[in-house]
Amino acid sequence: MSRIGQIARGLGRFIPAEAVRPLGRPAAVFFHGVEAATIDPRLQENHHETADFAAIARRLKADFDVLPLPAITDVLKNPDRHPHALFLMSDDGYANTLSVAADILEDLRLPWTLFASTHHIDTGARNPIFLARLFAFEAPAGRYAIPHLPDPLILGDDRGAVADRTVWQLRALDMTSAQQAVDAMMARFDPAVLESLLAKFSSERFLNWDQVRELKRRGVEIGAHAHRHWPMNEFQSPSMLRKQTVLAKARIEAEIGPCRYFSYPFGNKSDISRSAWHSVRDAGFDYAFTTLAGSLDPNANPFLLPRFGIEARAAHLTALISLLRAGNPRVARWQRELAG
Ligand SMILES: [Zn+2]
Repeated sequence: MSRIGQIARGLGRFIPAEAVRPLGRPAAVFFHGVEAATIDPRLQENHHETADFAAIARRLKADFDVLPLPAITDVLKNPDRHPHALFLMSDDGYANTLSVAADILEDLRLPWTLFASTHHIDTGARNPIFLARLFAFEAPAGRYAIPHLPDPLILGDDRGAVADRTVWQLRALDMTSAQQAVDAMMARFDPAVLESLLAKFSSERFLNWDQVRELKRRGVEIGAHAHRHWPMNEFQSPSMLRKQTVLAKARIEAEIGPCRYFSYPFGNKSDISRSAWHSVRDAGFDYAFTTLAGSLDPNANPFLLPRFGIEARAAHLTALISLLRAGNPRVARWQRELAG
Protein backbone atom coordinates (compact mmCIF):
# COMPACT_ATOMS: atom_id res chain seq x y z
CA MET A 1 0.00 0.00 0.00
CA SER A 2 1.15 3.55 -0.68
CA ARG A 3 2.25 5.85 2.14
CA ILE A 4 -0.73 8.11 1.48
CA GLY A 5 -2.99 5.06 1.63
CA GLN A 6 -1.41 4.02 4.94
CA ILE A 7 -1.76 7.51 6.36
CA ALA A 8 -5.39 7.73 5.23
CA ARG A 9 -6.12 4.30 6.75
CA GLY A 10 -4.36 5.35 9.96
CA LEU A 11 -6.30 8.60 10.21
CA GLY A 12 -9.54 6.87 9.30
CA ARG A 13 -9.31 4.83 12.48
CA PHE A 14 -9.33 7.92 14.69
CA ILE A 15 -11.39 10.52 12.89
CA PRO A 16 -15.17 10.16 13.15
CA ALA A 17 -16.93 9.89 9.80
CA GLU A 18 -19.14 12.94 10.53
CA ALA A 19 -16.04 15.14 10.90
CA VAL A 20 -14.53 14.28 7.52
CA ARG A 21 -17.56 13.47 5.37
CA PRO A 22 -17.93 17.16 4.32
CA LEU A 23 -14.42 16.90 2.82
CA GLY A 24 -15.60 14.17 0.49
CA ARG A 25 -15.08 14.18 -3.26
CA PRO A 26 -16.32 11.73 -5.89
CA ALA A 27 -14.36 8.48 -5.80
CA ALA A 28 -14.09 4.98 -7.21
CA VAL A 29 -13.68 1.92 -4.96
CA PHE A 30 -13.19 -1.74 -5.77
CA PHE A 31 -13.30 -5.24 -4.33
CA HIS A 32 -12.47 -8.63 -5.85
CA GLY A 33 -14.62 -11.53 -4.64
CA VAL A 34 -16.94 -12.53 -1.80
CA GLU A 35 -16.92 -15.96 -0.12
CA ALA A 36 -19.24 -17.49 2.47
CA ALA A 37 -16.09 -18.35 4.46
CA THR A 38 -12.38 -18.31 3.72
CA ILE A 39 -10.32 -21.42 4.46
CA ASP A 40 -6.84 -19.89 4.21
CA PRO A 41 -6.50 -16.08 4.14
CA ARG A 42 -2.92 -16.37 2.84
CA LEU A 43 -4.30 -17.80 -0.40
CA GLN A 44 -7.69 -16.13 -0.48
CA GLU A 45 -6.58 -12.58 0.24
CA ASN A 46 -8.77 -11.26 -2.59
CA HIS A 47 -12.06 -12.29 -0.99
CA HIS A 48 -14.30 -10.69 1.62
CA GLU A 49 -16.43 -12.94 3.81
CA THR A 50 -20.16 -12.55 3.11
CA ALA A 51 -21.15 -10.87 6.40
CA ASP A 52 -18.27 -8.37 6.16
CA PHE A 53 -19.13 -7.56 2.57
CA ALA A 54 -22.83 -7.08 3.37
CA ALA A 55 -21.83 -4.62 6.14
CA ILE A 56 -19.57 -2.74 3.70
CA ALA A 57 -22.36 -2.57 1.11
CA ARG A 58 -24.85 -1.22 3.68
CA ARG A 59 -22.32 1.40 4.79
CA LEU A 60 -21.75 2.53 1.18
CA LYS A 61 -25.50 2.69 0.62
CA ALA A 62 -26.03 4.81 3.76
CA ASP A 63 -23.18 7.30 3.31
CA PHE A 64 -22.65 7.69 -0.46
CA ASP A 65 -24.48 8.16 -3.74
CA VAL A 66 -23.44 4.97 -5.49
CA LEU A 67 -23.88 5.66 -9.21
CA PRO A 68 -23.69 3.59 -12.40
CA LEU A 69 -20.36 4.08 -14.15
CA PRO A 70 -21.72 5.90 -17.24
CA ALA A 71 -22.47 8.83 -14.86
CA ILE A 72 -18.71 9.39 -14.50
CA THR A 73 -18.61 11.85 -17.40
CA ASP A 74 -21.07 14.17 -15.61
CA VAL A 75 -19.44 13.67 -12.23
CA LEU A 76 -15.97 14.53 -13.59
CA LYS A 77 -17.36 17.64 -15.28
CA ASN A 78 -18.89 18.91 -12.08
CA PRO A 79 -17.43 17.19 -9.00
CA ASP A 80 -18.66 19.94 -6.64
CA ARG A 81 -22.22 18.94 -7.42
CA HIS A 82 -21.48 15.28 -6.55
CA PRO A 83 -19.35 15.33 -3.38
CA HIS A 84 -20.60 11.89 -2.26
CA ALA A 85 -20.69 10.19 -5.67
CA LEU A 86 -19.12 6.75 -5.55
CA PHE A 87 -18.46 4.18 -8.26
CA LEU A 88 -18.32 0.58 -7.03
CA MET A 89 -16.29 -1.97 -8.95
CA SER A 90 -15.05 -5.55 -8.79
CA ASP A 91 -11.84 -6.73 -10.48
CA ASP A 92 -10.81 -10.01 -12.10
CA GLY A 93 -14.16 -11.78 -12.69
CA TYR A 94 -14.43 -14.37 -9.89
CA ALA A 95 -17.38 -16.75 -10.07
CA ASN A 96 -18.46 -15.70 -6.58
CA THR A 97 -19.28 -12.20 -7.82
CA LEU A 98 -22.36 -13.83 -9.38
CA SER A 99 -23.04 -16.50 -6.76
CA VAL A 100 -22.61 -14.22 -3.70
CA ALA A 101 -21.88 -10.51 -4.32
CA ALA A 102 -24.53 -9.84 -6.98
CA ASP A 103 -27.46 -10.73 -4.68
CA ILE A 104 -26.19 -8.53 -1.85
CA LEU A 105 -25.68 -5.54 -4.15
CA GLU A 106 -28.98 -6.12 -5.94
CA ASP A 107 -30.93 -6.23 -2.65
CA LEU A 108 -29.48 -2.81 -1.80
CA ARG A 109 -29.97 -1.55 -5.38
CA LEU A 110 -26.28 -0.64 -5.62
CA PRO A 111 -25.02 -0.38 -9.21
CA TRP A 112 -21.55 -1.81 -9.89
CA THR A 113 -19.07 -2.63 -12.62
CA LEU A 114 -17.27 -5.91 -13.18
CA PHE A 115 -13.81 -5.72 -14.74
CA ALA A 116 -13.06 -9.13 -16.22
CA SER A 117 -9.73 -10.54 -17.45
CA THR A 118 -11.01 -12.10 -20.66
CA HIS A 119 -8.42 -14.90 -21.11
CA HIS A 120 -9.48 -16.26 -17.73
CA ILE A 121 -13.19 -16.03 -18.66
CA ASP A 122 -12.38 -17.80 -21.97
CA THR A 123 -10.37 -20.65 -20.44
CA GLY A 124 -11.01 -20.81 -16.69
CA ALA A 125 -7.22 -20.62 -16.13
CA ARG A 126 -6.51 -19.48 -12.57
CA ASN A 127 -4.74 -16.22 -11.77
CA PRO A 128 -0.98 -16.93 -12.10
CA ILE A 129 -0.26 -15.04 -8.86
CA PHE A 130 -2.65 -17.31 -6.97
CA LEU A 131 -0.93 -20.36 -8.52
CA ALA A 132 2.53 -19.09 -7.51
CA ARG A 133 1.31 -18.53 -3.93
CA LEU A 134 -0.38 -21.94 -3.93
CA PHE A 135 2.95 -23.51 -4.88
CA ALA A 136 4.85 -21.60 -2.21
CA PHE A 137 2.44 -22.62 0.55
CA GLU A 138 1.33 -26.11 -0.54
CA ALA A 139 4.17 -27.81 -2.46
CA PRO A 140 6.18 -30.39 -0.49
CA ALA A 141 9.22 -29.00 1.34
CA GLY A 142 12.30 -28.91 -0.86
CA ARG A 143 14.48 -26.96 -3.23
CA TYR A 144 13.00 -26.13 -6.63
CA ALA A 145 14.85 -24.63 -9.60
CA ILE A 146 12.22 -22.68 -11.55
CA PRO A 147 12.99 -21.20 -14.99
CA HIS A 148 13.40 -17.39 -15.16
CA LEU A 149 13.61 -16.96 -11.37
CA PRO A 150 17.02 -15.77 -10.11
CA ASP A 151 17.36 -18.34 -7.30
CA PRO A 152 15.93 -21.78 -6.53
CA LEU A 153 12.81 -21.68 -4.32
CA ILE A 154 13.54 -23.22 -0.95
CA LEU A 155 10.29 -24.29 0.65
CA GLY A 156 10.64 -24.97 4.32
CA ASP A 157 9.33 -23.20 7.39
CA ASP A 158 9.07 -19.61 6.17
CA ARG A 159 6.69 -20.03 3.27
CA GLY A 160 5.14 -16.57 3.51
CA ALA A 161 8.42 -14.79 2.76
CA VAL A 162 9.09 -17.11 -0.21
CA ALA A 163 5.56 -16.51 -1.55
CA ASP A 164 5.93 -12.72 -1.35
CA ARG A 165 9.42 -12.69 -2.86
CA THR A 166 8.41 -15.03 -5.69
CA VAL A 167 5.42 -12.88 -6.60
CA TRP A 168 7.62 -9.78 -6.82
CA GLN A 169 10.15 -11.63 -8.96
CA LEU A 170 7.39 -12.84 -11.30
CA ARG A 171 5.97 -9.33 -11.66
CA ALA A 172 9.34 -8.18 -13.01
CA LEU A 173 9.17 -10.74 -15.86
CA ASP A 174 7.52 -10.48 -19.24
CA MET A 175 4.26 -12.39 -19.26
CA THR A 176 5.49 -15.33 -21.38
CA SER A 177 8.45 -16.01 -19.08
CA ALA A 178 6.28 -15.59 -16.00
CA GLN A 179 3.75 -18.07 -17.37
CA GLN A 180 6.56 -20.58 -18.06
CA ALA A 181 7.76 -20.16 -14.48
CA VAL A 182 4.25 -20.73 -13.06
CA ASP A 183 3.70 -23.72 -15.40
CA ALA A 184 6.98 -25.22 -14.13
CA MET A 185 5.75 -24.82 -10.53
CA MET A 186 2.45 -26.54 -11.35
CA ALA A 187 4.34 -29.40 -13.06
CA ARG A 188 6.10 -30.12 -9.75
CA PHE A 189 2.79 -30.91 -8.01
CA ASP A 190 1.39 -34.42 -8.03
CA PRO A 191 -1.50 -33.94 -10.54
CA ALA A 192 -4.11 -35.40 -8.17
CA VAL A 193 -2.92 -33.15 -5.34
CA LEU A 194 -3.06 -30.11 -7.60
CA GLU A 195 -6.57 -31.01 -8.73
CA SER A 196 -7.78 -31.30 -5.16
CA LEU A 197 -6.12 -28.01 -4.17
CA LEU A 198 -7.81 -26.21 -7.08
CA ALA A 199 -11.14 -27.73 -6.01
CA LYS A 200 -10.52 -26.74 -2.37
CA PHE A 201 -9.84 -23.10 -3.30
CA SER A 202 -12.96 -22.76 -5.43
CA SER A 203 -13.00 -19.04 -4.53
CA GLU A 204 -10.41 -18.58 -7.30
CA ARG A 205 -12.71 -19.93 -10.05
CA PHE A 206 -13.59 -17.43 -12.76
CA LEU A 207 -16.98 -16.72 -14.27
CA ASN A 208 -17.71 -18.14 -17.72
CA TRP A 209 -19.30 -16.03 -20.47
CA ASP A 210 -22.85 -17.22 -19.74
CA GLN A 211 -22.36 -16.05 -16.17
CA VAL A 212 -20.95 -12.69 -17.28
CA ARG A 213 -24.03 -12.33 -19.53
CA GLU A 214 -26.24 -13.10 -16.52
CA LEU A 215 -24.56 -10.25 -14.58
CA LYS A 216 -25.03 -7.93 -17.56
CA ARG A 217 -28.71 -8.88 -17.72
CA ARG A 218 -28.99 -7.97 -14.03
CA GLY A 219 -27.66 -4.48 -14.74
CA VAL A 220 -23.95 -4.87 -14.05
CA GLU A 221 -21.64 -2.82 -16.31
CA ILE A 222 -18.93 -5.02 -17.85
CA GLY A 223 -15.43 -3.58 -18.31
CA ALA A 224 -12.05 -5.06 -19.24
CA HIS A 225 -9.27 -5.97 -16.80
CA ALA A 226 -6.77 -6.81 -19.60
CA HIS A 227 -6.85 -10.13 -21.46
CA ARG A 228 -4.45 -11.96 -19.15
CA HIS A 229 -4.18 -10.98 -15.50
CA TRP A 230 -0.64 -9.62 -15.65
CA PRO A 231 1.03 -6.24 -14.91
CA MET A 232 1.27 -3.82 -17.84
CA ASN A 233 4.70 -2.54 -16.81
CA GLU A 234 7.95 -1.73 -18.64
CA PHE A 235 8.88 -5.44 -18.77
CA GLN A 236 6.06 -6.12 -21.28
CA SER A 237 6.49 -5.67 -25.03
CA PRO A 238 4.40 -3.14 -26.98
CA SER A 239 2.73 -5.97 -28.92
CA MET A 240 1.77 -7.72 -25.68
CA LEU A 241 0.35 -4.47 -24.27
CA ARG A 242 -1.69 -4.01 -27.44
CA LYS A 243 -3.03 -7.53 -27.14
CA GLN A 244 -3.93 -6.94 -23.49
CA THR A 245 -6.20 -4.03 -24.42
CA VAL A 246 -7.43 -4.71 -27.96
CA LEU A 247 -8.17 -8.39 -27.40
CA ALA A 248 -9.89 -7.82 -24.04
CA LYS A 249 -12.18 -5.21 -25.60
CA ALA A 250 -12.88 -7.40 -28.64
CA ARG A 251 -13.77 -10.45 -26.53
CA ILE A 252 -16.18 -8.47 -24.32
CA GLU A 253 -17.78 -6.77 -27.32
CA ALA A 254 -18.21 -10.13 -29.09
CA GLU A 255 -19.74 -11.83 -26.04
CA ILE A 256 -21.50 -9.02 -24.15
CA GLY A 257 -21.69 -5.64 -25.93
CA PRO A 258 -19.96 -2.24 -25.91
CA CYS A 259 -17.00 -2.02 -23.52
CA ARG A 260 -15.88 1.51 -22.58
CA TYR A 261 -14.02 0.98 -19.31
CA PHE A 262 -10.71 -0.62 -18.32
CA SER A 263 -8.95 -1.37 -15.05
CA TYR A 264 -5.26 -2.29 -14.90
CA PRO A 265 -4.27 -5.63 -13.30
CA PHE A 266 -2.45 -4.84 -10.01
CA GLY A 267 -2.81 -1.19 -10.99
CA ASN A 268 -0.07 0.43 -8.94
CA LYS A 269 2.71 2.72 -10.14
CA SER A 270 5.10 -0.13 -10.90
CA ASP A 271 2.42 -2.03 -12.86
CA ILE A 272 1.58 0.61 -15.48
CA SER A 273 3.96 2.00 -18.11
CA ARG A 274 3.49 4.96 -20.42
CA SER A 275 2.97 2.48 -23.30
CA ALA A 276 0.29 0.75 -21.22
CA TRP A 277 -2.00 3.75 -20.89
CA HIS A 278 -1.35 4.72 -24.51
CA SER A 279 -2.44 1.22 -25.47
CA VAL A 280 -5.65 1.58 -23.41
CA ARG A 281 -6.39 4.94 -25.05
CA ASP A 282 -5.61 3.68 -28.56
CA ALA A 283 -7.82 0.59 -28.11
CA GLY A 284 -10.79 2.97 -27.75
CA PHE A 285 -11.62 2.84 -24.05
CA ASP A 286 -13.09 6.01 -22.51
CA TYR A 287 -11.74 5.66 -18.95
CA ALA A 288 -9.26 3.46 -17.11
CA PHE A 289 -8.69 2.90 -13.40
CA THR A 290 -5.53 2.27 -11.41
CA THR A 291 -5.24 1.25 -7.75
CA LEU A 292 -3.61 4.48 -6.55
CA ALA A 293 -5.56 6.10 -3.71
CA GLY A 294 -7.19 9.42 -4.62
CA SER A 295 -10.49 11.07 -5.46
CA LEU A 296 -11.86 11.73 -8.95
CA ASP A 297 -10.48 15.03 -10.19
CA PRO A 298 -11.62 16.67 -13.46
CA ASN A 299 -7.99 17.52 -14.35
CA ALA A 300 -6.82 13.92 -14.09
CA ASN A 301 -5.74 11.85 -17.07
CA PRO A 302 -8.94 9.81 -17.76
CA PHE A 303 -6.80 6.73 -18.52
CA LEU A 304 -5.02 6.83 -15.15
CA LEU A 305 -7.85 7.49 -12.67
CA PRO A 306 -7.29 6.65 -9.00
CA ARG A 307 -9.31 4.00 -7.22
CA PHE A 308 -9.40 2.75 -3.63
CA GLY A 309 -9.24 -0.94 -2.69
CA ILE A 310 -11.74 -1.94 0.00
CA GLU A 311 -9.86 -4.13 2.46
CA ALA A 312 -11.29 -7.24 4.06
CA ARG A 313 -12.88 -5.38 6.98
CA ALA A 314 -13.69 -1.73 6.59
CA ALA A 315 -15.26 -0.45 9.77
CA HIS A 316 -14.07 3.10 9.02
CA LEU A 317 -14.79 3.08 5.32
CA THR A 318 -16.70 6.36 5.23
CA ALA A 319 -13.83 8.27 6.86
CA LEU A 320 -11.27 6.60 4.57
CA ILE A 321 -13.19 7.41 1.38
CA SER A 322 -13.83 10.99 2.53
CA LEU A 323 -10.07 11.49 2.99
CA LEU A 324 -9.04 10.13 -0.42
CA ARG A 325 -8.40 13.58 -1.88
CA ALA A 326 -5.22 13.60 0.22
CA GLY A 327 -3.74 11.21 -2.34
CA ASN A 328 -4.37 13.47 -5.35
CA PRO A 329 -1.01 15.32 -5.39
CA ARG A 330 0.78 11.96 -5.63
CA VAL A 331 -1.55 10.78 -8.39
CA ALA A 332 -1.06 14.06 -10.29
CA ARG A 333 2.74 13.84 -9.94
CA TRP A 334 2.76 10.31 -11.32
CA GLN A 335 0.45 11.28 -14.19
CA ARG A 336 2.88 14.06 -15.14
CA GLU A 337 5.77 11.54 -15.08
CA LEU A 338 3.85 9.30 -17.49
CA ALA A 339 2.61 12.16 -19.72
CA GLY A 340 3.48 12.41 -23.39
ZN1 LIG B 1 -6.90 -7.92 -10.69
